[in-house]
Amino acid sequence: MKNPRTGSSLLIIGVVFCLFGLMLALHQTNLMEYITNVFPNIQSAELAGILLQLVGVTLLVTGLSILISEIVERNIEKFTFNVNRAIAQLKSVTLQTTKSTAKGCRFCGAPLDEGEIFCSACGRAQK
Ligand SMILES: [Zn+2]
Repeated sequence: MKNPRTGSSLLIIGVVFCLFGLMLALHQTNLMEYITNVFPNIQSAELAGILLQLVGVTLLVTGLSILISEIVERNIEKFTFNVNRAIAQLKSVTLQTTKSTAKGCRFCGAPLDEGEIFCSACGRAQK
């Protein structure tokens, strides 16, 4: 059984990576200068940004597919549970109907054949 939060966590991390990579690649914010200064030149900073975006997109897609499969899996479990419960209910209803329609002696409850007037167990008349 997978961790139910795996998909959503991967999705969030993927989005963060994507945005961060995009900011790094476009280096349009002053905040990014701190990070781009770490790299020897602006080309390598852009490359790192693009790689981050690629990793981010991969994580995003993976997270999304895990999330979808988790949702589908859970719904299938719920559906199977409901179907099983419905079958159980149906079985008990059928059992009750067969019990009430089955012929039995009015006095001792012994099973009677169709059209039988006297009970074979206690000998009492049924009408
Ligand atoms: Zn009887």
